[in-house]
Amino acid sequence: MKAAVVTNFSKPLEIREVPIPDLVPGSGQMLVRIETSGLCHTDIHAAHGDWPVKPSPPFIPGHEGIGRVESVADGVSPEWVGKRVAIPWLGSACGNCGYCISGWETLCENQINSGYSVDGAYAEYALAYANGVVEVPDGVSSVDAAPLTCAGVTTYKAVKVARVVPAERVAVFGIGGLGHMAVQYARLVGGLVTAVDIEQSKLDLAAELGADHLVNAAETDPVEAIREVGGADVAVVLAASPKPFAQAYRSLRRGGRLVMVALPADDAAITVPIFDTVLGGISVIGSIVGTRADLAEVFALHAAGRTRVITQTRSLDQVNESFDDVLNGRVPARLVFEL
Ligand code: NAD
Ligand code: ZN
Ligand code: ZN
Repeated sequence: MKAAVVTNFSKPLEIREVPIPDLVPGSGQMLVRIETSGLCHTDIHAAHGDWPVKPSPPFIPGHEGIGRVESVADGVSPEWVGKRVAIPWLGSACGNCGYCISGWETLCENQINSGYSVDGAYAEYALAYANGVVEVPDGVSSVDAAPLTCAGVTTYKAVKVARVVPAERVAVFGIGGLGHMAVQYARLVGGLVTAVDIEQSKLDLAAELGADHLVNAAETDPVEAIREVGGADVAVVLAASPKPFAQAYRSLRRGGRLVMVALPADDAAITVPIFDTVLGGISVIGSIVGTRADLAEVFALHAAGRTRVITQTRSLDQVNESFDDVLNGRVPARLVFEL
């Protein structure tokens, strides 16, 4: 099968012919014929070895994989065969720990991460886990389902953990793959949305998706611009550099919640002033992807026509130029490889 392989953190990916992976009996695995695979910025961090915990080359990235189940390992229900499924970042969790049994499988300490700790969906076939996939409903195309599988579920969850209520101001920092969905989920729960980016084209898209207030951070100080409209109740950070995190913190009004979602390289940090945080009753929340239940909700909302997914499709052969285009802000919102 064809696959895009990371061979070295400082080299481009290689398009290679590699064997179709074998199912391991008793592993809970299924073999999925991939149709579409979204390009999440996390895949770029993975390929560059940006984070403190690194994957081990050679590996195949990709955690927005959509395809049909072709076969299942012994022990997995044969009813899965033929179903169209999403393979998310949370490839599988233990199912038994305190986190897993309380609806927080995203925090399981024994999780498998697609395209990071195991090979992912930048390939014609991928192994997935029956206890990790989510079935894609008929009303959601495979091109739309791919970005929903990470960008969608992650920002849906971020809006949930921030407990946004109607008429609260939600500042979204970074209108990329994640951000263009965050604007929509914040609006769905009644938030007034401020979109912040450094590219005008991204702000134009945010406006089209219903953002109420736009701030070009390359030209205007977003802290001042957001404070002028009363400050943010919630600031969700989806831009992969430390500066917008500090700006987002300072844009909050009293009672505000900072939701950290992006994962800049090199174990980045911001300074949280104790006095202002205490007197302002500020919360700082980390939010990592979402559960299978969250993803099923994301698909249901999309099938009901409540969200739009903005994509451009590419061939897997274009993987390296696609990474460059994302890094340089030259893509509409999400790139999706068709396989
Ligand atoms: P993306 O590249 O599609 O979008 C990033 C956006 O941020 C772009 O529109 C870019 O123009 C904008 N930006 C860059 N610098 C900015 C600045 N200083 N101020 C405002 N905007 C700025 O990336 P993505 O796929 O949306 O992913 C974003 C980040 O989220 C990545 O770090 C990724 O690894 C992380 N991520 C986290 C989770 C999680 O569960 N926590 C899940 C998926 C992705
Ligand atoms: Zn992702
Ligand atoms: Zn667990």
